[in-house]
Amino acid sequence: MRKTGGKGLSLARRLYTSRTLGLALGLVCVAAAIRPLHPPVWVLVLMLFNGLLWPHVAYQWARRSPTPYHAEHRNLLIDSFMGGFWVAAMQFNPLPTATSLSMMAMNNVAIGGLRFLLAGSVAQLMGVGVGLLIFTPAFIPATSPEQLYACLPLLTLYPLALGWICYRQAHTLGLHKRELLALSRTDSLTGLLNHGAWKDQLEIEFQRCQRHQQGGAIALIDIDHFKSINDTYGHVAGDIVLRQLSRILKQNLRAADLAGRYGGDEFCVILPDLPLDSAAQAMDALRDRFATLGYEQNPALKVSLSIGLAAFNPAHGEATLWLNDADQALYEAKTTGRNRVICRAENDPRLGANRGAQIVN
Ligand code: GH3
Ligand code: MG
Repeated sequence: MRKTGGKGLSLARRLYTSRTLGLALGLVCVAAAIRPLHPPVWVLVLMLFNGLLWPHVAYQWARRSPTPYHAEHRNLLIDSFMGGFWVAAMQFNPLPTATSLSMMAMNNVAIGGLRFLLAGSVAQLMGVGVGLLIFTPAFIPATSPEQLYACLPLLTLYPLALGWICYRQAHTLGLHKRELLALSRTDSLTGLLNHGAWKDQLEIEFQRCQRHQQGGAIALIDIDHFKSINDTYGHVAGDIVLRQLSRILKQNLRAADLAGRYGGDEFCVILPDLPLDSAAQAMDALRDRFATLGYEQNPALKVSLSIGLAAFNPAHGEATLWLNDADQALYEAKTTGRNRVICRAENDPRLGANRGAQIVN
């Protein structure tokens, strides 16, 4: 219910502007066509009401409705019905008739697509029918110069206004789309890339390294004994630790590095164009910094990191094998005592001819 209200209220606000302008300009067009026909006073009063007051009545009616969206659809059908009614009252004078009907069709299709165009056309036909019952059925085949000029404001200004409203709406939708895309790629707790977004970046970096025969490294970072931190200090304290790690990552990495939260207490970093030695130094400095952090709420809390590093190797063939290397290095860091950085490199001269592990700390 609330959802319909929000959507309907913004529609009502948009329509209020376009309806106020469209019906005021339409009044000029219809008045010029009806004047020579000497209509009764009630027709003139109705015309003034429809052209000047109805937009405000319609807006308030929709605003006060429990379902403004549906109320606006009803108001639009009333607009179309009245359009048809005025066409019959003008005795089908060609230019004012074509102008009124086409502006309404443009309005209806812009708001509700083909379905609403059809519904609006039916309402227009009904309006014409009622008009024919009230006024003498007749056809005026020619539009006078005065009537032509009276149609020009509606013909020129209304499409401009509607185009502007549609443009603004498309612009806002574009902004929302970009915001949603950014949200869908962000980990809500830490503000880092989420699992899927980071894996996409890994794939891109892997392809780039292969194309340019460049090196680079990736790191998997896992908090040691995080479960017992949660158990001892509570999950809120656990969340603070996770946020601290993301903050340390943001502060200590280069602008080109890409950090993400792989899941749970595991984080991941892409370090483009960085030799394994330098990557290991950077990760060790990060590990060191994190280990010395203090926590206001829990002064006794000390947290360490285990980090697995893997260099890019063209022999990997695919990005997941590169990730596997980092995972194995992390596993080694865990099984050899935690609080350390382990690197895996293919044919690293310092590690012999085969794959090997290097304990940096
Ligand atoms: P190890 O040193 O082997 O990594 O041990 P560990 O206790 O850290 O083990 P593990 O990595 O498996 O534990 C991850 C824990 O992280 C388990 C889960 O309850 C907790 N966790 C996952 N996501 C969140 C989160 O968003 N907030 C908090 N507070 N805890 C989380
Ligand atoms: Mg852990």
